[in-house]
Amino acid sequence: MRYGMVIDLKRCFGCYGCQLSCKAEHATPPGVFFARVVKRESGTYPNVRKVFLPLLCMHCETPPCEAVCPTGATSKRPDGIVDIDREVCVGCRYCMQACPYEARYFHAKTRYYFGAQGPTEYEAVGYAKHPTGVVMKCNFCAHRLARGEEPSCVLTCPTHARTFGDLDDPQSAVSRLIKERGGEPLHPELGTGPSVYYLPA
Ligand code: SF4
Ligand code: SF4
Repeated sequence: MRYGMVIDLKRCFGCYGCQLSCKAEHATPPGVFFARVVKRESGTYPNVRKVFLPLLCMHCETPPCEAVCPTGATSKRPDGIVDIDREVCVGCRYCMQACPYEARYFHAKTRYYFGAQGPTEYEAVGYAKHPTGVVMKCNFCAHRLARGEEPSCVLTCPTHARTFGDLDDPQSAVSRLIKERGGEPLHPELGTGPSVYYLPA
């Protein structure tokens, strides 16, 4: 079993639904985006078009973030998820330097979206689960997977641009999409072996 995700760039129209649902699912503080969508322009005038690139932790096969973690707080699970034990993280941020995909965030102090007004009721409850002084990132919604549910960003995408499943199973939807549509990870030349693949736009 190796969890992975396939993102169809042809289907993504940049609605930010995944980014928003991820924030709601994980109650991430201001400035933290486990799932984010980057917009870019491609081509030269007048043949220009917008391209949307959804990004998240790539759950690398050989994660450089794990290699540099001095405490073992970052580790790769047998199912392929790269996770952080927040009890063990000392906030040294070596992993942030090592991650080539900028997937990690340091939670320095608790901040609220409405500043001096203080936390909303949602923030008061949601942020309580995020200790400060540690690093945080996407974990493929491991808590949802444990309940037999898909990651939040997969479930809420209105165009079904995201598919989630077992990369080790050649018959899974993710494996078939990669094979049939020519899925590629981002920056394969880095040798990290990402578990997130992209189908061409
Ligand atoms: S929810 Fe789907 S369509 Fe919307 S930005 Fe995310 S991947 Fe793209
Ligand atoms: S994308 Fe970054 S944080 Fe995620 S497993 Fe790879 S190196 Fe680690």
